[in-house]
Amino acid sequence: MSEDDKETQKSDIKENEKEESTEKESTEEKPKAKFTFKCTRCDACCAERGPIVITMWDLEMWARNGVVANFMPYFDIYQKPDGGIDLILKPLAPQPKEGEEEKSTKDPFGGVPIEELLDVKCPLYNKDDKKCLVYENRPLSCRTYPLEFDGKNFIVVDADCPGIGEEGMTKEDLKEMRETAKIMHYELTRMRIALPVLNQLISQKVMMDLMRQNMEAMSKMTDEDRAKLDEIFKKDREDQ
Ligand code: SF4
Ligand code: SF4
Repeated sequence: MSEDDKETQKSDIKENEKEESTEKESTEEKPKAKFTFKCTRCDACCAERGPIVITMWDLEMWARNGVVANFMPYFDIYQKPDGGIDLILKPLAPQPKEGEEEKSTKDPFGGVPIEELLDVKCPLYNKDDKKCLVYENRPLSCRTYPLEFDGKNFIVVDADCPGIGEEGMTKEDLKEMRETAKIMHYELTRMRIALPVLNQLISQKVMMDLMRQNMEAMSKMTDEDRAKLDEIFKKDREDQ
């Protein structure tokens, strides 16, 4: 689901207590619809989820349960348009159908831009068996879906989720869902503070290692090889 879709689907669902008191105070005001939810396990969210943002809570849980390696192939860093970065589970690019040309604007290393994967299934969803392959270890974002908390309000991020409006939600269920959404917000904030620092440290370390490897390689070169390399650089400068 795209950010734009999410924005348009934003609907505040204030605390129940507030709704109840507002309804009591004014009979003229149209009462707000009460939020009820029961997951129907339709898996629609898994089948077209797009990138899933990862929190510190997820990393800590996976480390505790010894399953980080299962998620490694799908990790990616998403550079957001606002300059921030998120750790995400990146969907796999769908294979073009038979006879169809590949439309994607892949980069030279085979990466497909995130913007092209917003409605693509979660890489951990088995479409044939209609099953989450990591259900016990699913990320926090999947546990709170489709409810999120932005630090002030609760937000429904997918108004089309068939579970919304389903009867059977107890006060305790609602409280638990809100608590999970709040934890998600807190853990995502922690991640967004830590990630740029870690990213910088790791990039610096990688650069230093590359430079060290280059210097080692240069020191092992013969005079003849070094002369050839100088020649290549000289020609390159002349061509520019
Ligand atoms: S959260 Fe909504 S879309 Fe996802 S499985 Fe449950 S009912 Fe379906
Ligand atoms: S991790 Fe599991 S629950 Fe979450 S979107 Fe993927 S398949 Fe669905």
